Amino acid sequence: MLQITDHQVKNYSEILVNQALEEYLRDNVIVCTCQRCLADIMALALNCLPARYYVTSLGEVIIKSQSEDLAEQVRLMSIVAHAVQQVGAKPSHELSKPITETEEVKKQSQSAR
Ligand SMILES: [Zn+2]
Repeated sequence: MLQITDHQVKNYSEILVNQALEEYLRDNVIVCTCQRCLADIMALALNCLPARYYVTSLGEVIIKSQSEDLAEQVRLMSIVAHAVQQVGAKPSHELSKPITETEEVKKQSQSAR
């Protein structure tokens, strides 16, 4: 496999989906918020979006990358919401058996509200 060590090829859509999902989780309660389900949601949403690869030198951090285009943000959010529904309807694991501790912690903080 070809090794490129000082630069990375990344997918900009991945960052946008990650941020949209984070925003979605702020306003909505989803069936399961374990790492596996979040990853499943990311993958599903990304499959609905064109990949937008860019090159970054190693260690470079994008601080603000939210799309300026409002229509695109709305579209992104609906794609994320759809992915959430799909994963919620058919999670990769049994919901009675949470696979991470994080899920339990989040449930507790939600019921504490
Ligand atoms: Zn889960």
